[in-house]
Amino acid sequence: MGLIKKKICLLGAFAVGKTSLTERFVNGRFEEKYLTTVGVKISQKIMPPVQDPGDGRMVQHAFLIWDIAGLEKFDHVADNYFRGASGALTVADLTRPETIEELERFGARFRSVNPEAKLILIGNKADIFDGDRGILGRLKRLSRECGTVCLLTSAKSGAGVEEAFLELSRGIEGFS
Ligand code: GDP
Ligand code: MG
Repeated sequence: MGLIKKKICLLGAFAVGKTSLTERFVNGRFEEKYLTTVGVKISQKIMPPVQDPGDGRMVQHAFLIWDIAGLEKFDHVADNYFRGASGALTVADLTRPETIEELERFGARFRSVNPEAKLILIGNKADIFDGDRGILGRLKRLSRECGTVCLLTSAKSGAGVEEAFLELSRGIEGFS
């Protein structure tokens, strides 16, 4: 079974938890402090084998997770960052409703560059979220409009993080 490298982008507004989700997933860690480095950090994570949605064969992906830092202002995120990606986790902060609108814009832009890529919406910081139904409703509606799913995560506790990346890996074809 071959190892197939796939580029994955972490998208979303500043401080929603993109770096923390990557850290949690790749290294099993959480840090309270901000990493303010400007640029792109690429981390690799080898995923468990999954069945290829195309031909049913078992495939194993190595995710190359692209995390932008400090350039999240929408206009500044270059299409180059998106190019060649097989999937994206688009992340909102459940405690900041305005980050959901940003998520919509990032998702649309990502799709325009990669129409076939798999997109998943993430509501992060579930550990400090009060369960506001309005916010959950907006996330659900948006995921329906995008034809995808939304999942709640906490990079701090780790809840939902593995599941989010696994869900992403299920929708990605092994041989494209
Ligand atoms: P980024 O700008 O999207 O990469 O966001 P960061 O990963 O740097 O996180 C921004 C801040 O939110 C940091 O202080 C993190 O410790 C905090 N944070 C990230 N994820 C969570 C979470 O799931 N729960 C809580 N309580 N804080 C989080
Ligand atoms: Mg970051």
